[in-house]
Amino acid sequence: MTTVSHPVRPTVAAADFEALRRQDPAIADVLAGEQARQAGGLQLIAAENFTSPAVLAALGSPLANKYAEGYPGRRHHGGCEYADLAERIAVERATALFGSEHANVQPHSGSSAVLAAYAALLRPGDTVLAMGLPYGGHLTHGSPANFSGRWFAFVGYGVDAESGLIDYEQVAALARQHRPKAIVCGSISYPRHPDYAAFRAIADDVGAYLVADAAHPIGLVAGGAAPSPVPYADIVCATTHKVLRGPRGGMLLCGAALAERVDRAVFPFTQGGAQMHTIAAKAVAFGEASGPAFTAYAHQVVTNARVLARTLTAEGLTLTTGGTDTHLITADPAPLGVDGPTARGRLAAAGMVLDTCALPYGDQRGLRLGTAAVTTQGMGAAEMERIGTLFAAALRGDGDVRAEVAELAGRFPPYPSE
Ligand SMILES: *Cc1c(COP(=O)(O)O)cnc(C)c1O
Repeated sequence: MTTVSHPVRPTVAAADFEALRRQDPAIADVLAGEQARQAGGLQLIAAENFTSPAVLAALGSPLANKYAEGYPGRRHHGGCEYADLAERIAVERATALFGSEHANVQPHSGSSAVLAAYAALLRPGDTVLAMGLPYGGHLTHGSPANFSGRWFAFVGYGVDAESGLIDYEQVAALARQHRPKAIVCGSISYPRHPDYAAFRAIADDVGAYLVADAAHPIGLVAGGAAPSPVPYADIVCATTHKVLRGPRGGMLLCGAALAERVDRAVFPFTQGGAQMHTIAAKAVAFGEASGPAFTAYAHQVVTNARVLARTLTAEGLTLTTGGTDTHLITADPAPLGVDGPTARGRLAAAGMVLDTCALPYGDQRGLRLGTAAVTTQGMGAAEMERIGTLFAAALRGDGDVRAEVAELAGRFPPYPSE
């Protein structure tokens, strides 16, 4: 591997980084190379974002050394006075930000949060109704390769073949037919808002719990740019690292009546010691998300996605549901003569990083992209039009797109040096 001279700053103090480079040049090169990679192209993965230097500072703090099994005021380890403070602040900020009675900020990831939500509400073998994986359901929504598909009897709902929208009559009919113990709403690639009130009514009709897996849109909810599932769902599962722009991790929100069951489902049922450095970083992110700058950011993320969606449509791509209300776009590049995996490869060669995903029709794979990271970099509508044009040019193999992508990315560094 080549040595990268790009300095890792200001996310790691220069002196600390130089010490790391002397001790372990191989890993120092990895860190520097990754930072250069992130800054040198367009990060269009819908689930990614750039955390602030403050979040990274909390992540890189000595709280990483602390063992803290249990909850504030009732830990199995000594010396938890600062760990308790960090978690109390994180929980207070989360409940205030999302208007929920209770928050659990310990899940190590979004999947861990979903596992704990199921553990709080279900017994092995129970029936669960969730979006089918070919339509955008997550692995934790019943994949046979995941604990969810192994331990529960999942039934999948789909989308209308014409519109690409969730068919609520189908969801209601499946609920009446299968009498699930829980209904899950939420997806990895559905670019519209779930109708939480409709899901609540269907759940009430059959006496099911409603679990909202809001891993993707929770950051938009924090910024007031998407409807909140909190008033409707029994448990809301979320990540903290997608649009919400915090550290990699998960979170659960619920009412007071389920608080104790949710807490016990996280610890001791599915996890051990809390990751206190991550919880401190979650608190920092919740603090950031509470301010007016984040509200403006969340709305700009959606505006940018709409502009990018319009540009990609004008360039000839087909978008599922015909557009987006969120940060996320699901596109079929077939009209440009390329399939999803080929498109992803051409875009990567041009410096545009994104995922392939299932499309809700046929068995071709499409592309999933999002505007959370590029919006954090400060890009706006004009840049989205530029990205859409470069995107289509890369798919068609026109011109030297790589240089233009690098030039655009270079004007919006994710971590501007002082
Ligand atoms: C991202 C995501 C998850 C899982 O998050 P991880 O942190 O990767 O475990 C779960 N559900 C949905 C809908 C997601 O989008």
